[in-house]
Order: sequence, then C-alpha cells, then structure tokens
Amino acid sequence: MKAVTVLGSTGSIGCSALDVVRHNLHRFKIFSLAAGANTDRLAEQILEFRPEAAVVGTESALKSLTGRLEEAGLPRADWPELAWGGQALIDVATAEGCGFVLSAIVGVAGLEATYEAIRRGKQVGLANKETLVAGGELVMAAARAAGTELLPVDSEHNGAHQCLRAGRRAEVRRLILTASGGPFRETPAGEFPSVTPERALRHPTWKMGPRITIDSATLMNKGFEVIEACWLFDFSPKEVDVVIHPQSTIHAMVEYNDGSVIAQISEPDMRMPIQYAMTYPERHETRVAALDWTKARSWTFQPPDLDKFRLLRASYQALEAGGTATCTLNAADEVAVEAFLAGGIRFDQIADVVEETLDRVPVRRPDTVAGVLAADAESRDAAVRAVRARRC
Ligand code: NDP
Repeated sequence: MKAVTVLGSTGSIGCSALDVVRHNLHRFKIFSLAAGANTDRLAEQILEFRPEAAVVGTESALKSLTGRLEEAGLPRADWPELAWGGQALIDVATAEGCGFVLSAIVGVAGLEATYEAIRRGKQVGLANKETLVAGGELVMAAARAAGTELLPVDSEHNGAHQCLRAGRRAEVRRLILTASGGPFRETPAGEFPSVTPERALRHPTWKMGPRITIDSATLMNKGFEVIEACWLFDFSPKEVDVVIHPQSTIHAMVEYNDGSVIAQISEPDMRMPIQYAMTYPERHETRVAALDWTKARSWTFQPPDLDKFRLLRASYQALEAGGTATCTLNAADEVAVEAFLAGGIRFDQIADVVEETLDRVPVRRPDTVAGVLAADAESRDAAVRAVRARRC
C-alpha cells in the first residue's frame, strides 16, 4: 500500500489524483493533504480520506479549516495533525510515513517541498512544472544524488516518458511536444489587446486551474514544457520541437535515429498520466475512456507561430541563457497573469511584462534553493514594476 502526500489537493490536478486514489483504495492510502485556502474542499477531502496530516497556506486558512472540521462534527481524536506554511509542506512531503509525493501546487510555492522530497529520495509525481522551470539544475542534481526518478504527470512529459521506453536514450533524435494551440490559435494577434480574462479562461480541450489556462492561451505553458522536458530527459533546446495539434489526443512523440516516430495517444484526461506516475512501472485499468476507433476522426498538425506567441520564443531564449533566466521567466509570468486576471493589464501585455523583466533582471547561477527563491523574488519585484508602468 503506497502512502501518498498530495501537495495541492484542492486544485484541478489534486482532485483528479484523489479520484485515482478513490478508485484504487487497495493500492493507495492518503498520508497527507496540502492546500492553500480552499478549506471547504479540503475539509471534505479530510472527511473522505482521513489523512494523518493536513496543511494549509496561511494561519487564517488554518483557523477556517478548524471551523469546518468542527462544523462537520468530526471527533477531535479523528482529526489529522493540522499545520500551515512552507515548513509544514516540507514536513509532510518528507515524513517517514509518506512513500509517494504528488507535487501539484501551482507556481513556485511548490518548489521547496518538492525539492526536499526529491532530496530525501521520495518517489515524486511531478505536475508542478515551475519546480523544474525555476530550479531545474538543482532539482535534477538532487534527484541524481538521491537515486530517485521524477515521474512526470504533465500529459506531454508523461507521454514522452512512455515513448522513451521504446528505445535507448542514445538512439533518440528529438522529442516533439504537442500543443492544442489554446483558444486563440486562429485569432489574429491584432485582437489580443481586447481579449478579456473570461475569454482567455475558456480552454478548448482541458479543464485546468486559472494560471495554466492563461499560460495555455499565450503558449507560455508550452514554453515551460519545453524547459521541463529538457531537464527531465536531458535534451538540448534544439532537440525539443513543438507542434500544434488542436485535437489534443497525441500528447508527445519521440523520433528515433532510424526515422521511426513513437507517439503516445489517449483521450485528454489527466487521471491517466496521474495514475501512470503513481503506479509506475506497472500499468493498471483506469476510468479514462478508451479511444473509439470505429469513429472517423482526423488529426491535424501545424507549426506554432512564434511571432504571435512570443512567450514560446522567449522560453527557448531563456533556456539558452541558462542560470536563473527561466526562473525569471516563470516569476514574471506569474505576476503578469495575476495582473491580467485582476484586470490590471491587457492580454497582449503579459508578453510585454515578461520580456521587459527578462531584459532587466541579471542572470545568476545559484547553487541553493534559497538562491533560486531570491532570484524569484528579485524577478517578481521587477515584474510588478513593469505591470505598474502599464496598469490600465
Ligand atoms: P489549480 O489552480 O487548480 O490548483 C492549485 C493548487 O495549489 C490548489 O490546491 C491550491 O490550493 C494550491 N496552492 C496554491 N498556493 C499554495 C500554497 N502557498 N501552499 C499550499 N498550496 C497552495 O492548479 P492546477 O491543478 O491546474 O495545476 C497545478 C500544477 O500542475 C501547476 O504547476 C500546473 O502547471 C500543473 N499542471 C496542471 C495540469 C492540469 O491539467 N490542470 C496539467 C499539467 C500540469 P487552494 O485552491 O486551496 O488555494
């Protein structure tokens, strides 16, 4: 029985992970749950899964969670250990009793606990791409030192992980990541200034948290995925290509040196990659619908427009720059997306803010997570200034 910690249990990935657990109670038990502020949902999850520990983001969220559990009438003796904040996240991710960590907090807030879990040799299912975008070099060094393999949950990387099992790494020519193209695939760039948050939040194929949904609309998300793939599978930026595939059924393809291409294909449902990571190297039945091959279907492919989706190009450039450039890319994007969702800047200005921040913040080469977090903070300050200069 695998004892699982879910970091970000109240989010889109966290809820899908708990659905996997719900239908595999003979394989998994929940050791701990961690969330930010959604204490209504967390309390429901505690009542259902009875974890040994639960963590929230702030002291006031802890108060609110206590209130929810009291209202629910759960006897105190049955309460999990409750805590809040960054150290508490690290504690539940590294605890003796935890065998598997699903890293699904959004943003760089998930970095430290994920890094510490990896450092202590825990098996980690990685959804939080910011961990590798911001701290890829340190995180991969920690994984190598601890002898632990990171199991990707992001559907493209999970697909790549599956395709890479078809041959030896030295035989691989390149990796091709697919992208749905987001809601603005056919929208002229000239319309970007008038795009509202509501419109940008309507993703054509995936139902996800707000930040990654906006990042999918700008293709920033695909840029993060290129960076994540380079770290996870040891590719150079030139070896990772992106192709627009609006049907989102082929998730990744690996081209081998003889010209043969292996693709990973499945319905877009995150429960599949989550379960794959949780049960690897075994495979088991899932509740994900199988593809219906009796129905006619067509799959299309086109190259991404890097002039329209500037953040994808910026990702390759940040990767080439190395050091903290990708950390700055992520921090600036987090700030810009938040500002866009709050009505502070226009959709097209997300790219402006990120590019300006990349220009302003020097690239550093930290050798600790604290150093990465300092670069993150410096980049956020610069991005906030770039947002203020544009406030609409
Ligand atoms: P959501 O916004 O739906 O969920 C984010 C989760 O993080 C919530 O549980 C939230 O808690 C929690 N959280 C935020 N801040 C903190 C904090 N300081 N401390 C503890 N918990 C915190 O995001 P998604 O599930 O969509 O995405 C999660 C990660 O997975 C992201 O990195 C994303 O890029 C990646 N990913 C997501 C995919 C998807 O299909 N959704 C696909 C591939 C990757 P609360 O809501 O309670 O505040």
